[in-house]
This record gives sequence, structure tokens and C-alpha cells, in this order.
Amino acid sequence: MKARVVIVGSYVQDLAFYVEAFPGPGDCVLAELRPGAGGKGFNQAVAATRAGAPTLFVGAIGQDSAGAHAREFARRNGVQTEFILKKKEPTGAASIAVNHAGQNQIMVALGANLALHVRDLPVRPLAAADVVLCQAESDMKTAAHVLRVARRHGAVTVFNPAPMHPGVDLAILRHVEVLIPNEAEFVSLVNRSPRSGVKNFTVEALHRLAPDRLHTLCRSFNVPIVIVTLGARGCFVSQPDVYARVQAHEVDPVDTAGAGDAFVGGFAAGLVKFNKNIIEAVHFANAVAALAVTQHGTAPAMPTAREIARFLR
Ligand code: ATP
Repeated sequence: MKARVVIVGSYVQDLAFYVEAFPGPGDCVLAELRPGAGGKGFNQAVAATRAGAPTLFVGAIGQDSAGAHAREFARRNGVQTEFILKKKEPTGAASIAVNHAGQNQIMVALGANLALHVRDLPVRPLAAADVVLCQAESDMKTAAHVLRVARRHGAVTVFNPAPMHPGVDLAILRHVEVLIPNEAEFVSLVNRSPRSGVKNFTVEALHRLAPDRLHTLCRSFNVPIVIVTLGARGCFVSQPDVYARVQAHEVDPVDTAGAGDAFVGGFAAGLVKFNKNIIEAVHFANAVAALAVTQHGTAPAMPTAREIARFLR
């Protein structure tokens, strides 16, 4: 089946430790361990596929049991796997701590993900996709190439700058049609972008901003559409001449790890489902993410199309 969404990004084996409270420096606390499939690119691919979009995941794994698990998990969930490539580096791994309030702290070692190079990329699926999506857990030259080629072929190019790190060159934004940062990533983009005219911007300052001012900051990236995810506060959508605030659904969250991935993957599926209508896709993404935070884990927490339809009824 033709992939309508192509996601080039990371696979990471999640080791989620559930604790009462996060340990401080030098502390040791007892935890319940739940291992699972994860990585921003992979989570987003599972979210998009389960939400109903035929999705190809392009990524790199090691020649180890974690890599074998990745392929198996992807296959079981209907993600197209022919471009999950084996590399000599170990499969990426993440240590995720989740406290009683559902907050998380994450450390990630990218391993094989950084070995996915431009020469590994499948040209035909990229050229034929409706939506092409990258994040910042891959080699950034590879991601920039993917977005450039996809845009040239008319796909909607979506970039989720997560996690923001010094290797993210803002020149990549030239190839991006939809930019989806969370609050911290948005703050970092504003501080790094010479066009924003703002320095020492903070998340607290972001919360105090009037919507028209937030819209102006979004426009300063020179990207057609910017969607800032705001956790339980929902998201802010900035398009060339309009902006909108979309409230999050009221749910009882048990684990917010992967909320952003659910949103971004759900958005990609929403673009396919709603013929590239941005606001309809955002509402769809908002529902996907709300459902995901009511479940434990990242990729395994992504809702199915049927669950999303029931939730939105
Ligand atoms: P993470 O890094 O934990 O995966 P993130 O910081 O990238 O997440 P957020 O901005 O926290 O992403 O959340 C993304 C989206 O998920 C929000 O825009 C919202 O739609 C949904 N969401 C997050 N938290 C909640 C919540 N508590 N209740 C309902 N929806 C939520």
C-alpha cells in the first residue's frame, strides 16, 4: 500500500521507571519497570498508523534484541517496515522516570539512529508521500535533506524540533511547512532565532504573552504554519493571517510521556484524513494526544482510529 505519511526518525527502546518521587542527586529509589518501544519518530509512526494513515517509518536499529523488538512491534501495529535499517551501532535507548503526578524525566542515547544517512533514504516513497515528518533525534543533515526533497515533490513537510539541541541548525526551517514545537522547544527557537528580536525568553513569559504577540513570534520563523503544543493547556496554531487557541480535552492523565508524539503523529494522520485542512488536523491531533496520556507508555499508548472516533463522537 502506498504510504501517505513518511516519517524519518528515531527508534529508541524505552525503559520506563515508575516512581513515587524523582530521585535527587546521589539518591536511589525503588521503581516499577516497564520496558517498551519508543523514540520520537517511531512513536509518531505508530500514532499515525493507528490513527488510520498508511505510514512508512524510515529509521535505523542495531543488530540486537532491542532492534528485533522494534521491527516486530512495528509489524504488529501495521507500520510499514521495509526501511528500518540495521546498523553496527546499538539500538537507541531511553531511561524514562515517571513520578506519581505523571510527570517525566528522560535521558536518551541515540546509538544507531545517528547512523541513518542521506544515502540510506528511499527516494520514491519520499517523493510520493502526502506528508513527510522529521524530528531532531536523527542526524540533522539527513533530516534537512528529507524535508528539502519532500517539499520539492509537493508533500506537506512537518518538523517537530524535539529535542532542541545545539545540532539543530535553524536553516532547516527553510524546508518546513508546519513546525510543531512544545513550550520549551518554542522558547529555545525564539532565543536562537535572530529574526525574533527576543532574548532570554522563558516558558513563564510565554504563558503571559497575549495571543497576537505569540502569533508575531511564530511568524518570525518564516514558516507557513507553527503549532505550539502547550501540554494540558492545549495548543496555539499560527497560520499566515490567522491564529487560534485550541483547548486540550479534559481527561485523567496517567502518563504524559509521548503526548507530543501522539499529537504530531495524530496531526500527520489528520492531514491525510481531512485533505490537508490544518485546523481539522489539529483537532484530530488534540484528541489522539488526550487519549494517549490516559495510557501508560509511549508507542503502546497510541489510540486506534476506532478509539479516536468514539472519543470525538
Ligand atoms: P512529551 O515530551 O511528554 O511527549 P510534549 O512536551 O512534547 O510531550 P505537550 O505540549 O506536553 O507535548 O503535549 C502535546 C499535546 O498533548 C497537547 O497539545 C495536548 O493536545 C495533549 N496533552 C498533553 N497533556 C495533556 C493533558 N494533561 N490532558 C489532555 N491533553 C494533554
